[in-house]
Amino acid sequence: MVNDTTRLLGLAVVDVVAAGQDGNESGQGPIVHLVTADESVRVCPECGAVAARAKEWVTTRPRDLPVAGRRCDLRWRKRRWYCDEQACPRGTFTERVAQVPARARLTVRLRQSTGAAVADGGRTVVQSARDHGVSWPIACSVFAAHAARVLPDQPGPVRVLGIGETRRGRPRWAWDETTATWQTLVDRWHVGFVDLSGGQGLLGQVEGRTSATVTTWLGERTQAWRDGVVFVAIDMCTIF
Ligand SMILES: [Zn+2]
Repeated sequence: MVNDTTRLLGLAVVDVVAAGQDGNESGQGPIVHLVTADESVRVCPECGAVAARAKEWVTTRPRDLPVAGRRCDLRWRKRRWYCDEQACPRGTFTERVAQVPARARLTVRLRQSTGAAVADGGRTVVQSARDHGVSWPIACSVFAAHAARVLPDQPGPVRVLGIGETRRGRPRWAWDETTATWQTLVDRWHVGFVDLSGGQGLLGQVEGRTSATVTTWLGERTQAWRDGVVFVAIDMCTIF
């Protein structure tokens, strides 16, 4: 069954069976009931065998993007299957689709949109979290994942390197029994590395404010990259 609501929702491999008109828990939009529409979800993720024996029905509530500006509460009724393949170590598995991986509480597109709003849209993490109806830690982690996907592993060549300290957060300490001293768990000081002459901006920010913090980060670059640095600008801090 592919109806207009299914098309509107645009989630492949699941069908909308009922979309309530009344307000959902968030008081903004409908509750949308989904069922699995593609039998390919019966394929065991471990061995690839097609399962024939259903164990039980479960209902999950993946969070998704708003539709037409309103938050929809999804209810996906799906099955848990037995894998009867003898050599397969997997006992049972639950149906999954690409947009809603196993155990995922958010659809992939909701995660991507939340991260992209910060990385590409210039929104703060707090604002993107509000706009997408997710918590700050989730918005922050999907932004970091988004950035990791699009940023190169190594920075491009830098002619003028800026090294500076930044204070953030609160320090945390823990008592170390063996040395009988307080050890830093979280350092309130970070060291930032900035491309001052090119367009790359902040290249890295590392927790700690010791000379080892600086040399470790520099050591992770290639020799060719270090050789390309002609000037280094630092503030008047002894560790630099
Ligand atoms: Zn299997």
